[in-house]
Amino acid sequence: MTTPDVINLTATKRDPTFVNRLTPAGHQLYTCIQCGTCTASCPSAAAMDITPRQMWRMVQLGLEDEVLHSKTMWLCSTCYQCQARCPRGIPLTETIAKLKQIALQERIEEWRESTAFYLAFSDVMHRYGRMREVEFMARYFLSTNPLGALGYAGMGLTLLRRGKLRPELPRLRGEGRLDRLFDRVAELEGRQ
Ligand code: SF4
Ligand code: SF4
Repeated sequence: MTTPDVINLTATKRDPTFVNRLTPAGHQLYTCIQCGTCTASCPSAAAMDITPRQMWRMVQLGLEDEVLHSKTMWLCSTCYQCQARCPRGIPLTETIAKLKQIALQERIEEWRESTAFYLAFSDVMHRYGRMREVEFMARYFLSTNPLGALGYAGMGLTLLRRGKLRPELPRLRGEGRLDRLFDRVAELEGRQ
């Protein structure tokens, strides 16, 4: 689903109870004043199909389908910038995690590749504390399009030759110190 620039609210299905499902913010989302600080603070906003500010307005209007079928939530890196800066003190990042949880539970496949990218990226960062490109790409392509990896084989070999890709990386010191952080994210998103 591509979100149109203009939405005809009288002709679009709306669910006024949608906001009730979006914990922890819930009805606090109605206090959003559309200041745009969340969008201005978001490092991923330029790549999103609807910006965070637009998304919260759509939530207020009960546009459940449009929100759950957008890729915005899958581009959220849980950086907490929007939540830290929201003048209304709305727990935005944690509520985006709830949106991911609902989309996973309802098996919304629209942005399957963005979802797979997000899950593979998070898992590799959790396990190693840094990016391990070979494993990340293997996981991503195995869960989306295994043959798609062939298109990157040439680039991968070039990077390997130049020492830019290392199949084996030493683990960072302090192994396991990220567990609490990633476990909390997985819990918020209903993945454990
Ligand atoms: S920063 Fe908070 S008040 Fe401002 S638009 Fe975003 S959610 Fe609304
Ligand atoms: S938590 Fe997500 S939506 Fe909020 S600023 Fe960070 S990336 Fe953007």
